[in-house]
This record gives sequence, C-alpha cells and structure tokens, in this order.
Amino acid sequence: MISVIISCSNCGHAVVLNPTEDNQSDVTSTLRKENKFYATISYVDSSEPKIEDDFIAKLTTESKENIRDFVEQNIIEQVDIYTELLDVTFTCKECGDSIELKDI
Ligand SMILES: [Zn+2]
Repeated sequence: MISVIISCSNCGHAVVLNPTEDNQSDVTSTLRKENKFYATISYVDSSEPKIEDDFIAKLTTESKENIRDFVEQNIIEQVDIYTELLDVTFTCKECGDSIELKDI
C-alpha cells in the first residue's frame, strides 16, 4: 500500500492520503475534511480538427433539412481534444507555504 503524506515543516500541518481498495485516493475530499491544505490544479485543453473523408462525403449527400442534425451529431468525432496536466500545487492554510508538483 502506498500513501502520500503532505507535510508542512514550517507549522507541522500534515495530511495522509491513503488509497482506497482500488489504489485511488480522493485528494479533494481528504483535504476538505482535514482543512489544513488546499490544492490547485493547472491544466490546458487543446483541440485539433481531424476531418475524415467519410464526414465530408456524407455532408455532400445529406439533404439541406438534415445537414444541421448530421453535423451536430457527428462533429465531436471530427475533433481530437486533449487535456494536459501542467501542475498540482498544495498550499498550507496555516502559514501559506506551498509545493508545486510538475513534470520539469
Ligand atoms: Zn504551514
């Protein structure tokens, strides 16, 4: 079993993040319950169109009345959407010290 300890050496606040039986840990719930640290998560969303030939071909064959429905039902499959985690920061509520976890 792996646990994560968030500990502030300035003021002694500490929280242990224990895993559930499926090796996950609810950080937000634990921090809220302990009320010693808060976490901020930074991420960036990006998207890239990947219009497939089939989509274009069907656009040209759909009736004018159905084209809006066709696009609304299928457009999301024509876009790759990415979410990239940038960093997670834990800040001590007592003294304000913090640690930023990131992939450098
Ligand atoms: Zn502190």
